[in-house]
Amino acid sequence: MPQRTFSILKPDAVRKGYTGAILAAIDAAGFQIVAIKKQTISKAEAEGFYAVHKSKPFFGELTEYMSSGPLVLMVLEKENAIADLRKLMGATNPANAEAGTIRKRFAESIQENAIHGSDAEETAAYEIGYWFAGYELI
Ligand code: GDP
Repeated sequence: MPQRTFSILKPDAVRKGYTGAILAAIDAAGFQIVAIKKQTISKAEAEGFYAVHKSKPFFGELTEYMSSGPLVLMVLEKENAIADLRKLMGATNPANAEAGTIRKRFAESIQENAIHGSDAEETAAYEIGYWFAGYELI
């Protein structure tokens, strides 16, 4: 049965003009785009989204960066979508990401790492609901 995951093309990737190339990689890997929108989010919205990282030393910097410019929010669907997107993304730190992964190809630092993907079913459900209304997911 197809599974849904949530993804963000982060401000660094959008700013550098990588949106099309990253969407092409996602498409080539067999994902369907269920919903997609480009928007700039507020610091408060970023803080809510990354609430699990509230106690981390990089929380302020991370939420500042995520609200620094337009990003692309998406719901993606395929068999095994959550794990397969994580694999396509590569390691959090692009220096450790495998060749061919999105972060290896398009990211520059552990923070400005081009793409977000949900890490589990519960987080995918939370994140999809955080950014998209039910009527946007038909
Ligand atoms: P992910 O699931 O691979 O995105 O990684 P995490 O859930 O661990 O971290 C969430 C996001 O926080 C990452 O994608 C990075 O943008 C950022 N991040 C993670 N670790 C660090 C760090 O050590 N320093 C900074 N500045 N940002 C980090």
